[in-house]
Amino acid sequence: MPKVFKGKNIPSRFERPGDKGRVGSRERLTYGFAMCKKCHAFYYKKSWHHNTDKLAPAEAKKLNINFVLCPADVMAEQGLYEGELTISNVPKESEVELLNLIKNFGRRAELRDVLDRILAVKKQGSGYRVTTTENQLAGKLARKIKDVFKKIDLSFRYSKEPFEVERIQVRFLK
Ligand SMILES: [Zn+2]
Repeated sequence: MPKVFKGKNIPSRFERPGDKGRVGSRERLTYGFAMCKKCHAFYYKKSWHHNTDKLAPAEAKKLNINFVLCPADVMAEQGLYEGELTISNVPKESEVELLNLIKNFGRRAELRDVLDRILAVKKQGSGYRVTTTENQLAGKLARKIKDVFKKIDLSFRYSKEPFEVERIQVRFLK
């Protein structure tokens, strides 16, 4: 049995997958424990966690675990985001360093929280458009870019309606 199933809060549903008659067992199956069909993150104890055991989807299927999309992958699929950076005026010689910084930042954020992600990095004119699952993440990334490249102008715009989105202009100064 994978380590994630060990512990006292694990629904008994998963120890007895054949027990369909239990009152409320269906609800627990739906909401208590699930695997993201895309990134294989786990939902349990009311939040999303890394699949630290590297449980394969085929194995999860055998254990009767529900497959859903985690909120980060729902956002990716629907083109939604909570944070957006528009990076402009990027000098040619800084492009590689900038892209590496963004990639590493995204990797570290996701290690800390499985739902904290960089959703997309797209070339746009003389720069890039970067979207994140979380608005504070975008702010942190913008400040990190300023820390590293120094001559940067940041401007923040927060919109509440219809979604809470942090939009940040990151402009390289010549
Ligand atoms: Zn996922």
